[in-house]
Amino acid sequence: MILRCASTNAGKIREFRLAATQSGFPEIDIQPLDNLNSLEPCIEDGGSFEANAVKKALYYSVLSEAPVFADDSGLVVDALEGAPGVRSARYSAEGTDQANNRLLIDNLRGREERAARFSCVIALARQGVLLGTFHGAVEGLIVDDPRGEGGFGYDPHFYYPPCGATFGELDDNSKLTVSHRGQALRALLAFAASTARSR
Ligand code: IMP
Repeated sequence: MILRCASTNAGKIREFRLAATQSGFPEIDIQPLDNLNSLEPCIEDGGSFEANAVKKALYYSVLSEAPVFADDSGLVVDALEGAPGVRSARYSAEGTDQANNRLLIDNLRGREERAARFSCVIALARQGVLLGTFHGAVEGLIVDDPRGEGGFGYDPHFYYPPCGATFGELDDNSKLTVSHRGQALRALLAFAASTARSR
């Protein structure tokens, strides 16, 4: 069974493919939606990760016969009233990982409360019909000094206590085992596999 992934984020696509190969669903083949640029980009103006993921999956699902999935994810920081949240990718004016991380740390300066979580929602759709949504979340702490060269986005500042490391210090496999995206993707794969078996 083929599932098409509606994302151009190289870090995410790498994690999706790794999860599919490592999590015991050999019958599911994840492929990027390669004609993604033939449509205007979907405007991500929803107020929640779920609203954005559903909007993207429905929008891009017309491009493929196979089911299409889209995710929306981000960092939710308690001391910042949930920011950057759905604006995680474009938190700073520049919108680069480096500028987003700098703004995050500037905004937390002098704040002791460092609790944060990554959240991910994946939506699956086929030809304009929503088939399901799948959720994942992981709790951690924001550290001022970046650690590690791995991952992407806010990973070097996201300390995950059970591993005694930031997500930037984990290899891709270890991150995926515990991450918000790994959880949501495994739920998607289990759903897709059971749907395929019951046909
Ligand atoms: P999206 O592409 O709209 O889902 O934006 C997600 C943004 O949230 C990314 O550009 C990152 O800034 C951040 N983000 C989401 N997941 C992760 C992660 O696993 N590690 C680090 N940053 C993440």
